[in-house]
Amino acid sequence: MLIKGNYLIIISGPSGVGKSTITSKLLASSKNLDFSVSYTTREKRPSELNNDHYVFISRREFEDLINKNAFLEYEEVHGNYYGTPLKPIEDSLKFRHSILLDIDVKGAYNIINTNHFDSISFFIRPPSIETLKDRLTDRGDMKTDQIEKRIIEAKNEIMKSIHFDHLIVNDNFDDCYSEIERILSSM
Ligand code: ADP
Ligand code: 5GP
Repeated sequence: MLIKGNYLIIISGPSGVGKSTITSKLLASSKNLDFSVSYTTREKRPSELNNDHYVFISRREFEDLINKNAFLEYEEVHGNYYGTPLKPIEDSLKFRHSILLDIDVKGAYNIINTNHFDSISFFIRPPSIETLKDRLTDRGDMKTDQIEKRIIEAKNEIMKSIHFDHLIVNDNFDDCYSEIERILSSM
């Protein structure tokens, strides 16, 4: 898929809804699309690679970067800092690429509101809260209390979906992905 123009493409929605599955497939199928690797203070999961999924740093290092204005946005999500570094975004846009952001709903809302860059935003919704819980449980990388926390948060996040350009339900994955691809191809 060729994306015309240079955009910040924001994929947001509750934890476990399928954002990273969607972003991986978009990146694999688009040449002029880069991924915004966020910084986080959360612990690395065994399946993750430093500098690839996230840049894993300490709270102190993160706070240093906040003071240096290194982030386009940052939020404390589920007790850890997560932030979008500004420099890689500027670099991608300079190379006439678009850049894909997988970020939480508050962070996405901040970017949508500031209008710093041309952006297109997608809110990914689960078909139901029960399905979301099943997906988080089946992914198998979180304790029950962490899953419960994320489910409570998901209910609040879904109420904010009206602020996004597109609301997409991820029930059948192929249908969800095709809809996003159709929208991005027609920009
Ligand atoms: P997020 O990045 O939003 O936290 P993930 O992409 O990790 O979510 O997806 C959570 C889990 O749900 C993963 O195990 C993934 O394979 C699965 N998943 C994603 N989309 C679907 C779908 N449409 N139907 C069933 N399972 C899905
Ligand atoms: P996880 O710990 O499951 O990888 O991510 C938790 C949440 O943090 C997800 O909703 C994810 O989209 C969000 N997130 C990841 N990176 C960023 C970021 O740079 N900024 C913000 N605001 N949220 C992020």
